[in-house]
Amino acid sequence: MKETKLIVKNKFLKKYKSGYPLIMKDAIINMNALKEEGQLIRLLDEKKGFIGKGYYGIQNKGYGWILTQNEKEKIDHSFFHKKLLEAIKRRKKLYMDRNTTAFRVFNGEGDGIGGFTVDYFDGFYLINWYSKGIYTFKDYIINTLKNLSGCRGIYEKKRFDTGGKFIEEDGYVWGERAKFPLIVKENGVNFAIYLNEGAMVGVFLDQREVRKAIRDKYAKDKNVLNTFSYTGAFSVFAALGGARKTTSVDLANRSLPKTIEHFSLNNIDYEAQDIIVEDVFGYFKYAQKKNLKFDLIILDPPSFAKSKKNRFSAAKDYKDLLKSVINITEDGGVIVASTNCASFDMKKFKDFIDKAFNEMDKKYKILEEYRLPEDFRTIREFREGNYLKVVFIKKY
Ligand code: SAH
Repeated sequence: MKETKLIVKNKFLKKYKSGYPLIMKDAIINMNALKEEGQLIRLLDEKKGFIGKGYYGIQNKGYGWILTQNEKEKIDHSFFHKKLLEAIKRRKKLYMDRNTTAFRVFNGEGDGIGGFTVDYFDGFYLINWYSKGIYTFKDYIINTLKNLSGCRGIYEKKRFDTGGKFIEEDGYVWGERAKFPLIVKENGVNFAIYLNEGAMVGVFLDQREVRKAIRDKYAKDKNVLNTFSYTGAFSVFAALGGARKTTSVDLANRSLPKTIEHFSLNNIDYEAQDIIVEDVFGYFKYAQKKNLKFDLIILDPPSFAKSKKNRFSAAKDYKDLLKSVINITEDGGVIVASTNCASFDMKKFKDFIDKAFNEMDKKYKILEEYRLPEDFRTIREFREGNYLKVVFIKKY
């Protein structure tokens, strides 16, 4: 395939030469050369010196991805095949682990090709496509996955604008059709997965290590509050870790049946747990008024959220959210503060934590920190990709 030449501004030369993979509008002199998503790109400096090769694809912050800095390497079927097989090899331990049957197989630029991810759910592969551009290479990727031993079926989600197509597809691509819920395991715990229901499939795989820590080290005999609880995955791990009781709070109506399902799948009596469908901001007020206190509070909000009464942005409002949580945490209790917001780093996140405790005139100690697990592979050259930040904080 023909390569379109893109010229990098001098100001950005160092960044791209050192391996930054995302094509940004501001960095390119001749953006108008980009015509059709999926077209191959040859990135050059202003003197026409070679920098790298990639493809054009529009997704949230960027306009495509550089895939190689080796001028001789071809971006073809065998390139995709090789990158996928390398990624699978790196996850060998997870494939062998019979207690964990859900994990990430391919993490975009972290595994060498930005623009798509692949997750594994007990024999089924789910591909998330983040641009029309990467979707033009879909046959390469699907072909490789199809031929993996143990691949039962393939599903996909198009996370880009498909041009006003509003008929919800179930995402089926190839092989066996899964029966939903598909039951998978994570460290021995059952989860119900729905690959056919929108972007969120039932569990966020990047929190695996945090859930395990909560079960194995923090939950015993504790009164646990799980806010923004979604399908209750953290609550299930807390209950299995011996929590005295869990309370799950989420605004979405679906969270009630989905949380009941997750408790039941793990033989936990859901009637002994509280599952509350409510805006957490309203719940915090209620808890304060009733003087409710918790020993362990999990706080994992989305980066942005809008409800009837509130608008939340992690970058702006995390500190205040933490203050409400500090208010209802027992002295000696633990707060699990988590964010998937890529627009601030761990240092800034710890600043929010520090300010929140100072403004509440409370002392704290950071017990431990988590970042993305190994299967969510990231590269040094693209720090934004390392979005997950989780801090276990003890309140004094
Ligand atoms: N912590 C969860 C994932 C959270 S996903 C886990 O790891 O499993 C974000 C969730 O926040 C969604 O389920 C959404 O319904 C919920 N949410 C968004 N705004 C909310 C609000 N104001 N109050 C309560 N829940 C909210």
